[in-house]
Amino acid sequence: MVAKQQKPVSIFVFIGPPGSGKGTLATRCASERGIPMLSTGNLCRSHIKQNTELGQQFASHIDKGELIPDELISKMVIDWIMSNIENHTQCILDGFPRTREQAALLVDFIESSSYTFNVLPVVFEIAPQVLVDRLVNRKVCGNQDCQAPYSPTKKPKKENVCDLCGSTLVKRKDDDIAVINHRLAIYQEHAHDLIPFFTKRYDVQTIDTQELSIDGVYDVFSKLLT
Ligand code: AMP
Repeated sequence: MVAKQQKPVSIFVFIGPPGSGKGTLATRCASERGIPMLSTGNLCRSHIKQNTELGQQFASHIDKGELIPDELISKMVIDWIMSNIENHTQCILDGFPRTREQAALLVDFIESSSYTFNVLPVVFEIAPQVLVDRLVNRKVCGNQDCQAPYSPTKKPKKENVCDLCGSTLVKRKDDDIAVINHRLAIYQEHAHDLIPFFTKRYDVQTIDTQELSIDGVYDVFSKLLT
């Protein structure tokens, strides 16, 4: 047993299918509240763009809509947590864990860490058909350090230009109908195990992102931050 130090750090774990609003909420919390957030998809795409050793291993998985192997992605996330939580009491994981195995690796890390972590899973609920429409029409900021998402329900102030950094918006390669359907199927398959895994251990919150506006989702989540 490792002696615990420093103030507890709350890790908000965003669980939801692609297009359910996780990235929009996480981006807003980071820009408006300064909460460190990791979008695993964004970090993977940055590695690919920079052609790092990891990026070379990620590319074929991402293009096909397949998951990156659990050990590889979990190590990347744990390294990120350890380099980003200094002087913070909260952080957000957007898109990790996605499998029961990844969740178990996260719990192992938390239990053996010298930090005290509180895990706060948040499940984003939405109907699959809404997601397909959103993803087909989604664009993201082309700046790899930003990658803010936009959709018909969250349009940029100036057409095709990112509100946050002014870069041009682009379409993601994996936001293609065949790949989208595959990604949604993979989410359903793993959510089946993942959500009960968390429900057994932690107080899981659910946000209905279909019925709520983007501001509504932010307001519901803000209550969890206090
Ligand atoms: P996202 O941007 O969250 O839609 O993720 C895009 C892609 O990145 C996914 O389809 C996977 O290929 C990869 N990815 C992101 N997060 C994970 C994860 N936790 N486990 C495995 N692969 C991931």
